[in-house]
Amino acid sequence: MPQAENAHVKPFELIAGHVALDLVNTVDHRFGPPAPQERLVTYDDLLRFALQSGIITDRQAKKLRRSEASLAERETILRQVRDLREALAAVAYAQLENNEIPASSLATLEDHFKQAAARRHLVAGNLLLVWNWSGLSREIAAPWWRLSQAAADLLLSDQSAHIRCCSSETCRWLFLDTSKNHTRRWCEMKTCGNRMKARRFHARQSENE
Ligand SMILES: [Zn+2]
Repeated sequence: MPQAENAHVKPFELIAGHVALDLVNTVDHRFGPPAPQERLVTYDDLLRFALQSGIITDRQAKKLRRSEASLAERETILRQVRDLREALAAVAYAQLENNEIPASSLATLEDHFKQAAARRHLVAGNLLLVWNWSGLSREIAAPWWRLSQAAADLLLSDQSAHIRCCSSETCRWLFLDTSKNHTRRWCEMKTCGNRMKARRFHARQSENE
């Protein structure tokens, strides 16, 4: 059923350079202020995120949208993705702050990674063996499995050493610092740069009042 609010839904700001980190950033202002803002409110939001991130195709998204799964089943998947996301956030921010990684978050990640891995099949590709995810267009859990797999791929790779967070205290979005000297400080100038500018402007305005 078409949702009226879809007409003016904002696209996701995918600035992280990796879908697993973009997923963590679907909570805006995680550490506030202002109050944290949830961007994955419905299963449809999850589909939009998965499609925009390129982990499912337009065709798969259309089929999943038309799936006969109940609202309750869709919400279960949405909750799984949020659970994955929060464990990812806990692990990533603990690492960034040199804190001990919470054992419960590690266990949660392990559980998600195992569930995703159990859904794929090894098949012969053109030259190499590839993991195949059959039935992605029919399984409403597909975005969850793909996100779990992507998170596992990142956290178990050398790339994980380059996970950083935005220097803006009220943003702290995660990103993969692929800059040449690994000196990237901001999620995006367009986002945080403008926020900073707006804040300075308002501060000046109130000083003048
Ligand atoms: Zn930022």
